[in-house]
Amino acid sequence: MENIIQNYISGEFLNPTTDTWLENYNPATGLAYSKIPDSGAQDVELAVKSATKAFPAWRDMGAEARSGYLWKLADALEKNIEQFALAESIDSGKPLSLARQMDIPRAIHNLRFFATAILHTHTETHEALPTALNYTLRQPIGVVGCISPWNLPLYLFTWKIAPALAAGNCVIAKPSELTPMTAYLLTKLCQEIGFPAGVLNVLHGLGGKVGANIVEHQHIKAISFTGGTATGATIARTAAPMFKKLSLELGGKNPVMIFADCEYDTMLATTVRSSFTNQGQICLCGSRILVERPLYERFKADFIQEVEKLTVGNPLDTSTKLGAVISEAHQKKVLGYITLAEQEGGKILTGGKAVYPKDCPQGWFIEPTVIEGLAYDCRTNQEEIFGPVVTIQPFDTEEEALQYANATRYGLASVLWTQNLSRTQRITKAVESGIVWVNCWLVRDLRTPFGGVKDSGVGREGGEEALRFFTEAKNICIKS
Ligand code: NAD
Repeated sequence: MENIIQNYISGEFLNPTTDTWLENYNPATGLAYSKIPDSGAQDVELAVKSATKAFPAWRDMGAEARSGYLWKLADALEKNIEQFALAESIDSGKPLSLARQMDIPRAIHNLRFFATAILHTHTETHEALPTALNYTLRQPIGVVGCISPWNLPLYLFTWKIAPALAAGNCVIAKPSELTPMTAYLLTKLCQEIGFPAGVLNVLHGLGGKVGANIVEHQHIKAISFTGGTATGATIARTAAPMFKKLSLELGGKNPVMIFADCEYDTMLATTVRSSFTNQGQICLCGSRILVERPLYERFKADFIQEVEKLTVGNPLDTSTKLGAVISEAHQKKVLGYITLAEQEGGKILTGGKAVYPKDCPQGWFIEPTVIEGLAYDCRTNQEEIFGPVVTIQPFDTEEEALQYANATRYGLASVLWTQNLSRTQRITKAVESGIVWVNCWLVRDLRTPFGGVKDSGVGREGGEEALRFFTEAKNICIKS
């Protein structure tokens, strides 16, 4: 594995201008294993210069040529899938099997999806007879910023850069300082395949420093951000008075509503996944499980039995279902929430403690934890924990399920389990979230709008929505 990560600017690998560095940790061992640039404003300046210079040629080469470059990058990534999966697992603590099956294949798919989507876009005309014909020209914005989090590192990094590049923009991207490795390895591939210099620039470092410098830069015209709600608010405070385009994909506290008429076995297996995949560190995980009372005791017993079968351990072992959480600070935060849940009157049904696997005794692991007996409006049920912790709670009526489901500041995703079609229509309309999965979870079609309501964000990603975000619409009115 690489032990020095560098910035990628103008097709070259550069040290940070101040020559200051940060440690990058392996969450499973708790040890630093590489250094990353502690970049700042001067590095952003270099990246903006390089992107600005590259922009006219990238914009004007046309969609087919840009598509070709993205496709080539996807091919190169596919050839190296095993190296990238291993790097993602070591850098983030997630099970290698998950990185292999989900993270890296999805990153390849993101690149291929937008490489082809850009070939099939269309735009509107409005004919105002007999006076004029209007048509809408969608032009790339110029230099844009893409800032991504640590939980799905390459998956979300490519989810942003692919539509931005496909639409003809040049990008300054910043992966999370906690998981910089796969973005760095991707820039190595860019150089290998001859991606045009300056089109994609990747800066590494702290959010509050180089991340903020990107948001503050007056020549970066749009910011696509995925991360925490508090960070989203900080970014909006800086970007809004500068009139930047902003896409904010933020936190969640997603409800899972389980009705007694559901298809039980599928629901049970899927709910285990929706609770604990990636140690519960997916913004789409369901952390508040609401169960119709007649099914509650049966669900509780079976759910606990299944959760206790999940092996927590070395992310590189094939039997591991839960790896390490991202950092020591995050482990402390999640364990703090479990303590809070007990103070709030919650009963821990299973889990609740840190784990010290034999071969990773210093890593940051937590048992999958299920808690019951909490009120829907207590802090444990209101605040985003973002770890392997779920609460279960019975409800009696559809109204009550909806009341609990909608009772947080967040509105990213929700899950509904029922066979009743009328109820499905009522609840999917009334639930306050940007995504509703009915009788499934994390089934993704990249053409669909993706994003949240309330404090879960502003704007939508995915398909045409992303291509529209990364372009400016211009109306051309021609007199007849
Ligand atoms: P975070 O907000 O701490 O950091 C996200 C990114 O923003 C990182 O690259 C970080 O370096 C950068 N950053 C931090 N402060 C910044 C600032 N002031 N200016 C510019 N950039 C800054 O989030 P995280 O802890 O990395 O990720 C976890 C959060 O992300 C959770 O809240 C989770 O729900 C959310 N998330 C949301 C989605 C979604 O699609 N809605 C997807 C994944 C994760």
